[in-house]
Amino acid sequence: PTAPSIMTVNGHFASVGEKSSKEQYEHGIQVINDVQEFNGALPKYLSLEKVASAGFNYHLISVFGSQSTGKSTLLNHLFGTEFGVMSESERRQTTKGIWMSNNKKAKVEGATKQMADNILVMDVEGTDGRERGEDQDFERKSALFALATSEVLILNMWEQQVGLYNAANLGLLKVVFEVNLELFIKGNKQNPRSLLFFVIRDHLGTTPLSNLRNTIMQDLSKIWSGCNKPAGLEKSKIEDYFDMAFVTLPHKILQPEKFVAEVAQLGTRFREGHKDARREALRNDDELERGVFLPEYHRRIPADGFSIYAEGVWDQIVNNKDLDLPTQQELMAQFRCDEISREVLVAFDEAIVPFENKQADGIRMGNPQVLGGLGAVMRSARMKTVKNFETEASRYHKGVYGRKRAELESKIDGRLKILFQGQLSAAHKSGVNEFSEAVSAAVKTGQKKGASYDFAEIVDREKKTALSKYDKEARGVLVEGAPWSNYKQEMSLYQKDLNEVSGRLRREEMRRLATRVERWVRSRLGESVGLEFNALGSGRGGSGAPESGDRQPEKEIWDRIWAVFTKTVQDAERRFTDRARSFDASSAEVDVGLWRLRRKSWGVLRAKVDEEMMEGNLLLKLRENFEDKFRYDEAGVPRIWRPTDDIEGIYSRARESTLTLIPLLSKFQSSHTSDPPPLDDWIGNVPSSVTPADEEDLSPIGGVDEDEGKSLEEEMTVLSDAKRQDITVRFKKTADGVYVEAKRSAIGGITQ
Ligand code: GDP
Ligand code: MG
Repeated sequence: PTAPSIMTVNGHFASVGEKSSKEQYEHGIQVINDVQEFNGALPKYLSLEKVASAGFNYHLISVFGSQSTGKSTLLNHLFGTEFGVMSESERRQTTKGIWMSNNKKAKVEGATKQMADNILVMDVEGTDGRERGEDQDFERKSALFALATSEVLILNMWEQQVGLYNAANLGLLKVVFEVNLELFIKGNKQNPRSLLFFVIRDHLGTTPLSNLRNTIMQDLSKIWSGCNKPAGLEKSKIEDYFDMAFVTLPHKILQPEKFVAEVAQLGTRFREGHKDARREALRNDDELERGVFLPEYHRRIPADGFSIYAEGVWDQIVNNKDLDLPTQQELMAQFRCDEISREVLVAFDEAIVPFENKQADGIRMGNPQVLGGLGAVMRSARMKTVKNFETEASRYHKGVYGRKRAELESKIDGRLKILFQGQLSAAHKSGVNEFSEAVSAAVKTGQKKGASYDFAEIVDREKKTALSKYDKEARGVLVEGAPWSNYKQEMSLYQKDLNEVSGRLRREEMRRLATRVERWVRSRLGESVGLEFNALGSGRGGSGAPESGDRQPEKEIWDRIWAVFTKTVQDAERRFTDRARSFDASSAEVDVGLWRLRRKSWGVLRAKVDEEMMEGNLLLKLRENFEDKFRYDEAGVPRIWRPTDDIEGIYSRARESTLTLIPLLSKFQSSHTSDPPPLDDWIGNVPSSVTPADEEDLSPIGGVDEDEGKSLEEEMTVLSDAKRQDITVRFKKTADGVYVEAKRSAIGGITQ
């Protein structure tokens, strides 16, 4: 754009900023200067004049005519403008290029006939003072510019020029007609009409207006027929493109009062008119009442786009390019729609950026937050942004507007979508955490109360709470009309995650249950197996089994231990299964749980056995067993040794009897078949749904876990051969000690 320089009336350039805006534009704005540059300050001028925001509610008039025919004087009187006029004394050209000024007379006197709003008047440099070639060039350019923008062309001429084939006049009209054909007819289906408003100055009054009109019309016909017309339009008439109006004005210097009065009367014509009025006017001579601004004259350039449009048009004209108005309108529409887009995005940013920042911070800190109030702000921001854009931009080229609106929507929807999804994922994350915490807390409370709590019910209740909370958060950020505005998929992902978490929680609950049941098994086995081993000490059988005949009850100790073991675990399995079923554990999960329980229980039993068979414990039991047999008679009465007693015989029998326990206890096996118990079958196959996590804390079992390299026999070996011999030797020493003591007491009894 050109540097905003304003040429003042007296020919000096003043740069912007030197004067206040008011002074600066006192004479209007020089849109095109004398070196044919466009003034980049036009948008500023239109804003200052408050025309820019008028939408379509503004009008454009251009005045044409020979130099010094009083054009500027007329405009100043009509519109209160202050275009430079030639002083009476020095005669030189004043209007250079094209000036524009806003109408300064809002109302004509009497205030009954209001002038139209926002009338922009363009004062175009007159022509006859210049060299011929140069004249025609600027004449053509300014005519193109005026026709591309103006609804009304005022053609100013003296009465004495009417009917004279004044070259300048004819030339100008010919240019206007040809330029019009070029601009609006070629390839442009809906050609806007324009009003040619002939103002005949210095009317003496002797020739009536109707005669002047006829003369001018005849001239126009001649000019029209002499115009080059594009193919197919040879038969077209002037009236197809132009409306004509005529008015006379008295001599300003000779009849100053009359001049002022009639100009004031003429001013009332510059108001909105109706089509019917035009038809009427064409039939009647009396045109005085008709408003000149018909809607069909309007070029439909929104006021806020006028500057950019005019600049584009002028650029094309100056560079002698084919002036294609539809293209100019599209370019303007694109430019303005982009500008409007940027403008409406400012408010959008103001509302949305704080949320975007908050969300980004949360994500960066690894702690995404559900943002309160987000939905309402998103809805109102989207609605306002689109609405504001629509208000301003819908005046422009429909195609461009539609495209730019879609662009804007996709831009804001893109950003809103990120916020939406951020919110959903924050709600997802916190929802899953809260769910997991709530279930754990409820379980803890249940455990504290000691009462059996219903795990399935807890999960069910907390899942419902979590789902409804998520649904509420998500619904809160829906934005009607936005293409991304649904969360079905996210909801189902959320549901899936909740299910996964509840699966995990259920497995944890299973573990807790398993631990409880194992503890129970441990305490039961500790008691019952302990009793079996304690019974060894009596030398007369264990666990209340009555002694019957020769049968040595110790012999069946392993049968009883296996029986009590399997019975205990069976009870435990039932407890486990019942409870696990109550919280919807799958049968696969239950199978794994039972399998683990059996293995762990075996471990418990094996540990208990090892504890009982620790050297000290075992020796104690053997000694008790032996002493019981040695020191008590068959009736269970303690023996008082006498020297006559067969101490040695009793000693040997008792010792041999106790010694048989050592091989018996060394191996866990059936007393009937001498086979190890069917531990492998009893534990059963590894369930197919076992996971590595399920096996992590299990100790290997010989004969069951094949890759252990340990046989079932070995698993059932309680005492190694070496240990057996060692125990045997040590037991014998203990027995010997008891024997010696008995012997001494027998002798001592005699000496006493
Ligand atoms: P422009 O070049 O067409 O803009 O003409 P100006 O408005 O600058 O006026 C040129 C000269 O004509 C000035 O000296 C005016 O005083 C004078 N003038 C203005 N109006 C009239 C009019 O109605 N009749 C006559 N005879 N002179 C006029
Ligand atoms: Mg002038």
